[in-house]
Amino acid sequence: MNSSLVIYNTLSRKKEIFTPLNPPLVGLYVCGPTVYSDVHLGNCRTFVSFDLVFRYLLYLGYKVRYVRNITDAGHLEGDRDEGDDKFAKKAKLEQLEPMEVVQKYTIGFHDVLRLFNTLPPSIEPTATGHISEQIEMIKKIIANGYAYEVNGSVYFDVEKYGGSNDYTILTNRQLEDMLNNTRELGGQEEKKGRLDFALWIKAKPEHLMRWPSPWGVGFPGWHIECSAMSSKYLGDQFDIHGGGMDLAATHHTNEIAQSRACNHTSPAKYWMHTNMLTVNGARMSKSSGNGFLPQELFSGDHPLLTRGYSPMSVRFFMLQAHYRSTLDFSNEALEASDKGYKRLMSAIALIPKLKISKTSSVNIDDIRNRCIAAMNDDFNSPVLIAELFEVVRLINSVYDNKTSINSADLEALKVLVNDFVYNILGLTDDSNSTNDDLSKIMEFIIKLRNDAKSAKDYATSDLIRNGLQEIGIQLKDSKEETLWNKL
Ligand code: AMP
Ligand code: ZN
Repeated sequence: MNSSLVIYNTLSRKKEIFTPLNPPLVGLYVCGPTVYSDVHLGNCRTFVSFDLVFRYLLYLGYKVRYVRNITDAGHLEGDRDEGDDKFAKKAKLEQLEPMEVVQKYTIGFHDVLRLFNTLPPSIEPTATGHISEQIEMIKKIIANGYAYEVNGSVYFDVEKYGGSNDYTILTNRQLEDMLNNTRELGGQEEKKGRLDFALWIKAKPEHLMRWPSPWGVGFPGWHIECSAMSSKYLGDQFDIHGGGMDLAATHHTNEIAQSRACNHTSPAKYWMHTNMLTVNGARMSKSSGNGFLPQELFSGDHPLLTRGYSPMSVRFFMLQAHYRSTLDFSNEALEASDKGYKRLMSAIALIPKLKISKTSSVNIDDIRNRCIAAMNDDFNSPVLIAELFEVVRLINSVYDNKTSINSADLEALKVLVNDFVYNILGLTDDSNSTNDDLSKIMEFIIKLRNDAKSAKDYATSDLIRNGLQEIGIQLKDSKEETLWNKL
């Protein structure tokens, strides 16, 4: 197991050497989607980023318990425990039961993540499946003096907690400033303090998703589900907690407060936050209506796109940026990533055709070490990809007989590609090999061209080459055969 992995910890605001609490076990908790609507590409970026983290920890030999929840209750439209329930609203709109809404969008979420080749988490618990755990936790927080019940709802007392704890530890804000900048309680007079948040909310008569509790019939607040489910499956203290950066200021801040108020320990040792996918500089979000659905990207059916892009090109696009950098979505950026992805896959397709020499002028160990160094530096996928483009140059050079490789190095090269391209970056080849029909057609066209060449009909052979070029397919001739790839 390699212990030189370094992770940027939001909690300390610096990079730290990763030392798991109970090696070789690693507990990883990531906030999952709120399944009242389709996931957009921004959500996918966060889940693909943590898929990279999961995959690399597995590569390092850790036994990872990856828990990613499904938020299927407790989400009100307002950010301060007010407004309609998002699930109930959607259920009315689509004339479905709330749990039909949940089922529909959970299936859609899984389908999309499967297309992006993300590994399933070890446990995917739902908020509605853990109501009793949430109630138990709320009871403990009340008993410890950090929450109070008013008229069937329970609120977390932020000022009381802040008296002896650092409430804003994750974002380093001043509690005073937050209090001054938070609007009056407007309509929320039940709360003692402006920053107090709901742990349990009394259900109005029309509220559909409701459960009995010691405080009457109601439903849990949003934040308590992650505290209850992470401690149930990973323990009161575990290794890594992740989510998008937008969750740090409220959701994760409140998770830490709840867990400390209940268990007297901070839940996670390392907090990781992914940066946002933006469109023209603005954060992609469900509410602002600038969200791209993955399906629109795959089909190209969107005003900002000139054509569709394969799920693997889009995954490659996401991995070309470091998870802590913003990533701006544009047709040009996707186009460039698509070219890069295809260049990588075309080179890999040449590996079985490389000639073995007795001597070798390549050093695969060196490249592997550089790839590991990139990933050990806070999962630096763009640097890893730059190293893999060195591998592309090397393969092409061996293929063109400009560089020699012996059989041991060729084997090492195959293992390197398997580890870093397929297992860690999670890419698959969706250009040639998965497109069986196109492969068969191309085999046939290449045979027609070879027949034309044999008959010295160079006009026809050029016509075929140029025609294919025009529709985005490039032929590459060698002495032995003709290969093709999509441009
Ligand atoms: P939600 O379904 O809204 O709860 O979001 C699911 C996950 O996607 C959370 O971890 C969010 O932080 C993350 N997320 C939301 N918008 C974006 C975005 N534009 N870019 C990256 N991650 C995002
Ligand atoms: Zn959460």
